[in-house]
Amino acid sequence: MKLLLLAGDDIGPEIMAPTKRALIRLNEKFDLGLDFEERSIGMEALQAEGTTLPDAVMESARAADGVVLGPVGTFKYPPKEQGGINISAAFRISMDLYANIRPSKTRPGVPSMAKQMDLVIVRENTEGFYADRTMFAGTGEFMPTEDLAMSMRKITREGSRRIAVAAFELARTRRKKVTIVHKANVLKITDGLFLSVARQVAADYPDVEVEDVIVDAMAALLIRKPEAFDVIVATNMFGDILSDEAAELSGGLGLGGSINASAERAIAQAAHGSAPDIAGQGIANPAALMSSAAMLLAWLAQKNGSNALAQASELFIRSVDHALADPVNHTPDLGGPGSTAAFGDAVVAQIES
Ligand code: NAD
Repeated sequence: MKLLLLAGDDIGPEIMAPTKRALIRLNEKFDLGLDFEERSIGMEALQAEGTTLPDAVMESARAADGVVLGPVGTFKYPPKEQGGINISAAFRISMDLYANIRPSKTRPGVPSMAKQMDLVIVRENTEGFYADRTMFAGTGEFMPTEDLAMSMRKITREGSRRIAVAAFELARTRRKKVTIVHKANVLKITDGLFLSVARQVAADYPDVEVEDVIVDAMAALLIRKPEAFDVIVATNMFGDILSDEAAELSGGLGLGGSINASAERAIAQAAHGSAPDIAGQGIANPAALMSSAAMLLAWLAQKNGSNALAQASELFIRSVDHALADPVNHTPDLGGPGSTAAFGDAVVAQIES
């Protein structure tokens, strides 16, 4: 089984290093038979090959059983015509990775704004407000005059159905509650479609409690009573924003793991960005990327019916939680004195114990 590791930009290589070490130890301990391949993407690839996403990397990603993708510094990429391809978007769209699964929970030892929280945001990943993926041809963002900029939002029945199914299926394995987030009071047609389809899906899951909440109220309720939520299903941008809020409530952006998934493929990717403000200092928190890689192992375990992969995933998650439980391991984003490498050492030591 092949895992492709793509470090990405800025803090990417720093947080990929301990994640790779942990994966290698788990591979040895559970005899997982994983082969690792590493390739260059982002600004490094742009300088060497004239594109942030070389064709060979896309082919490797398609051929791999799973991908661990570091954060990409999209904001500083040049236009597409000059090689600046948005790697996250390219993977999500071309592989139809429609479900972005983003858990957030409070943990013993981690200072957090939320007193108690254990929720998963299920974010639609291929349409919504992201205008670069709205159109068959051309771009969904355009300027009719120099003083007027417009963008198109896309919501489809099928896109709404399959993300709602993913949310309700997940809820069945958890506390059996789904919160549908929308803005159907204003975006009556687009979010109206999303909401009505999600409600139709809900009818097939009578054992799962369902509620719907308007997105602006949701932003407030997440702060007021985060313990009240289990699975939250949302369109692309609402899910993106709410999941950063949830990660921050749980302690910080450096804790937010995620996978981008379909039934056939999955890519592990931290919820946060490439954090250029702290790059090169050895202080980035690798917990989010490690948690994402652990989620990928769980996804592979389910897909392949592999007990060893499931055990490896569980140990990885427990080891990250164990390292986080001791404030001495905390990186500065959590208010601690630690470093990226030292946190990685603590996780690897726990895996080996
Ligand atoms: P960001 O998530 O990179 O950073 C926001 C803040 O959180 C910064 O203060 C940063 O230092 C901190 N932070 C983020 N991850 C951290 C970690 N692991 N450990 C410690 N602190 C961490 O968001 P941004 O600054 O808005 O974006 C930076 C770049 O990342 C942009 O180019 C943006 O396009 C890109 N981006 C990429 C992804 C992705 O790859 N999935 C997601 C969001 C943003």
